[in-house]
Amino acid sequence: MDNRTHILHRDPSHPLPVAVAGDGPYVIDSTGKRYLDASGGAAVSCLGHSERRVIAAIKAQLDRIPYAHSSFFTSEPAEELAEFLTTRAPGDLGHVYYVSGGSEANETALKLARQYFWEKGETARRHFIARRQSYHGNTIATLSVGFNPGRRAVYEPILLPVSHIAPCFAYRYAEPGETPEAYGIRAADELEAEILRLGPETVIGFIAETVGGATAGAITAAPGYFRRIREICDRYGILLILDEVMCGMGRTGRLFACEDEGVAPDLLSCAKGLGAGYQPIGACLMSDRIFEAITTGSGTFQHGFTYVGHATACAGALAVQKVIEEDGLLAHVRAMGAALDTALRARFGDHPHVGDIRGRGLFRAIELVEDRAGKTPFDPARKVYARLKEAALAAGLMVYPGGGTIDGKRGDHVLMAPPYIIDETHVALIVERL
Ligand code: PLP
Repeated sequence: MDNRTHILHRDPSHPLPVAVAGDGPYVIDSTGKRYLDASGGAAVSCLGHSERRVIAAIKAQLDRIPYAHSSFFTSEPAEELAEFLTTRAPGDLGHVYYVSGGSEANETALKLARQYFWEKGETARRHFIARRQSYHGNTIATLSVGFNPGRRAVYEPILLPVSHIAPCFAYRYAEPGETPEAYGIRAADELEAEILRLGPETVIGFIAETVGGATAGAITAAPGYFRRIREICDRYGILLILDEVMCGMGRTGRLFACEDEGVAPDLLSCAKGLGAGYQPIGACLMSDRIFEAITTGSGTFQHGFTYVGHATACAGALAVQKVIEEDGLLAHVRAMGAALDTALRARFGDHPHVGDIRGRGLFRAIELVEDRAGKTPFDPARKVYARLKEAALAAGLMVYPGGGTIDGKRGDHVLMAPPYIIDETHVALIVERL
């Protein structure tokens, strides 16, 4: 295959290698070069690229029936996957709405949240509050709640009005000498201030990534932050939406990242690791009270994508989740995550351009800075993150870097989200190639 393409790739000026095969955590291109996938692509391929049990389940479903439209039929894998997810989810997230990816999952969550209040007659509620340094997807609504300046720029005039508060990002926003707990409370209290400013009766909900992913790199919240957020949402009767598209489905060492925060949201979106890249699938989990408000109210959610509950996608995702559970991969993620953290600190802990090493489970990031003491980001024009991605790829390593400043408070970072199946030799190789 030559380099001519009819596809509008992300960077059309830049020819891409052609992926032709997968072997565990490796992607193999058409020249035979092997790339160690230390980022699961974009935190997707959590079982690597050749899990036979998942492939067999997908083939078996294709042999039965690939797909039947959800306005006519449900399917066995869709029902079984919903039971699997809801019996393991925290709180009363007892129902599922299937979609094909993360943006659709969040779009669904935003619309379910609005409809919940509409069913209750609270139609004045129209505001969402979200955070800077966040990414929730590419549709107009999800781009509006997210805060990726590069992706928003062209569309700014047509985005929905959304309030953005600061994220809980201790490395960048905690005051010198402030304890993590005190910082967590201070960061969460920004939500209350914004609710009061808007008028509580006009607010629908607050959306946040449980662990921040693509926009600033594996940002875990300060202890107590999300518990305080939950209290504030409850105090004003607003919904908490947790976006676990990137950090969920085992990435942090728990099936749902919010388990480590001791909170359950009203709506939770997941995708990426749900189908692990074997099938495109996402889901929005909703609490029983949201489900009941709609089913006992107007009776219908006026939404729906053509591929809702796609049988083959659900069969693939169900097989992925069973492999994670049956192989004890959540504990393995925690162990390998600790090993990766230790190895990164040993190799880069004193590096003059490494400002922070952070994350949880197999969701890790390094923040790169011009000057370590002052935490000064590199000039965005230098595109450090893009050059790093290219150099890593040349060295046979896939990492997921990002960059560009927000409030002057973000530098370049390298995100790592390797498959859950890696062992110590892969950990060593990731650090060596990095
Ligand atoms: N939410 C988060 C936290 C994400 O990281 C992403 C994608 O990176 C999305 C939503 C959007 O998901 P998708 O690209 O599958 O639409």
